[in-house]
Amino acid sequence: MKVDLLITDAEFLTQDPARPVAHTAAVLGDRIIALDADCQGLRPRRTVRADGAVIVPGFNDAHAHSVWFGTSLLEADLSTCQSLPGLYEQVAAHARAKAPGEWVVASGFNQMDTGGEYPDPSELDRASGGRPVWIKHTSGHACIVSAAAMRALAITGSERFEGGRVVVDEQGTPTGVLEETAMALVHDYMLPLSDRDIVEALAAAHRVYAAEGLTSVTDAGIAGGWIGHSPAELGAYQAARQEGALAARTQVMIASDVLTDIAAGEETFHGLPTGMRSGFGDDRLSLGPVKIFLDGSILGNTARMSAGYTNCPTNHGYFQADPELMRTRAVRAAKSGWALAMHAVGDEAIDLAIAILTEVRGIAPPLPHRIEHGGVVTPEQLETLADLGATIVSQPHFMRAYGDGFRGYIGDERTHWSFRSASQLRAGMALAGSSDRPVAPGAPLEVMTSAIHRQTNSGWVYGPEERLTPTEALRAYTAGSAHVTGWAGQKGVIAPGYLADFAVLDASPLDGDPNQRRVLSTLVGGEVVFDESRLWEGTVGR
Ligand SMILES: [Zn+2]
Repeated sequence: MKVDLLITDAEFLTQDPARPVAHTAAVLGDRIIALDADCQGLRPRRTVRADGAVIVPGFNDAHAHSVWFGTSLLEADLSTCQSLPGLYEQVAAHARAKAPGEWVVASGFNQMDTGGEYPDPSELDRASGGRPVWIKHTSGHACIVSAAAMRALAITGSERFEGGRVVVDEQGTPTGVLEETAMALVHDYMLPLSDRDIVEALAAAHRVYAAEGLTSVTDAGIAGGWIGHSPAELGAYQAARQEGALAARTQVMIASDVLTDIAAGEETFHGLPTGMRSGFGDDRLSLGPVKIFLDGSILGNTARMSAGYTNCPTNHGYFQADPELMRTRAVRAAKSGWALAMHAVGDEAIDLAIAILTEVRGIAPPLPHRIEHGGVVTPEQLETLADLGATIVSQPHFMRAYGDGFRGYIGDERTHWSFRSASQLRAGMALAGSSDRPVAPGAPLEVMTSAIHRQTNSGWVYGPEERLTPTEALRAYTAGSAHVTGWAGQKGVIAPGYLADFAVLDASPLDGDPNQRRVLSTLVGGEVVFDESRLWEGTVGR
């Protein structure tokens, strides 16, 4: 029998308990068809000797934001600014390349880097030469606009939002900070992005993915709400795919704001016009769950907690909308064939997610239901979630990027219940790998290292009992993510019948810290999408 590709002299870390290591693999079309002895007698069109390279299933980020990340690659980057003067300088440098009056857009701002200080609207005007400035907070849950931007947007400070606010000082003057749903003031003005802008952002993001061994990514919210970039965002995704800009397989979550009631004879569905829902698409581009924001973020002190924030005990954060309304809509979406991905960070938001999951328990979802983040999950809540067969998609790299800040906001006790990983495995729950990029950096080998150490910037270990072993971290980023995104049996494992998605590494990520390893090349469906190794020369575009 003829096969397209035979890879020999490799160390495949298969993630298949029945055969943890293999040395030879045969690929036909986009699938693995045989390993080791079963490859004997096959006639390969091409053979690649891997010189002992370690090959793992391609990494799968179960929660990232590809369009948002891609656009941030093209904006002023504030993530390395350590002071407000430094931030103003960065804005000024970026503004100089712009026409007068053109907007200056920046991302990556985190007040933890500037001693808790937010930029001043008038100082931003000075830095930008009067051009309106829009700074996106790294959490995604707030933004800062300059005085010129506030004039352009006609912001007075008297605007009222459910699930968000225009922050004002004691005199009632707007500070430029827009929280949560109040970000609509600037979004409505700046968006939608054109199809072309979205395709370019995706191309930029996917170039990074390919170089990092990422072969699957879930974009956690498109097409609506504060997270979407255009009501036609899925169409732009299709255009990007047609142009070959999507190196990694992509699953998209649809923002819940987009779902409407659709009458179909006797029944009324809560979904998208045409009736398509979770699971639609193919292994390159598919519809994932509906993304429902129940609350905000710890960093913005907007996640809904049963106990107050340590730095301001009267503040419990808030829900993004009336909890009863969110519950009803989520249940109706689940009954209409949607898997649910519920952003829940504070423990009161987790309670709401549990109430919803309990109510939809009897309906088999097309993909697993999931909770995003889980900033505070009490031991009792974890037990209930395990009972419900749910999973929490948490981001261990938050510990590195924001752990010290989180600790200050929620206090030591709650850090033990925060962004859980190992306790999910102990409770028999599935565990995915994810970054929430660009909220935090997203290179898989870096995120895996954070999952193993959970060390904050200052060196403190955040929730030590939640640390993973290297084996568990690798499994989460491959087989775990495949399971949680509904692709178990198709990806995440190197075994016959699975998609031929590989990350080729210079050495094992299980010896020492994964971030000491280097991605040499990346294959998606047997095709080389990144190659620094020269192993695959002549194989590109096979
Ligand atoms: Zn996210």
